Amino acid sequence: MKLDITLFGALPFRRVSKTAKRQRRTHLKKAAPTVASCPNCGNALAPHRACTKCGYYKGKEVVKVNKEEK
Ligand SMILES: [Zn+2]
Repeated sequence: MKLDITLFGALPFRRVSKTAKRQRRTHLKKAAPTVASCPNCGNALAPHRACTKCGYYKGKEVVKVNKEEK
């Protein structure tokens, strides 16, 4: 049987060393989540979202929050 080079498709010219691979991946990292704080109660929250503690957004109560649960 004769080996046909077209069966393999595109392959890397040479093996990438552990060091080269690791150096390339130093730029691949997960970004820390963005956290804002509520101007009404100071609770940490996701930006552009109504506050989960007091239900305020842009200085107004937009969501009713159950305040008995703590
Ligand atoms: Zn709040």
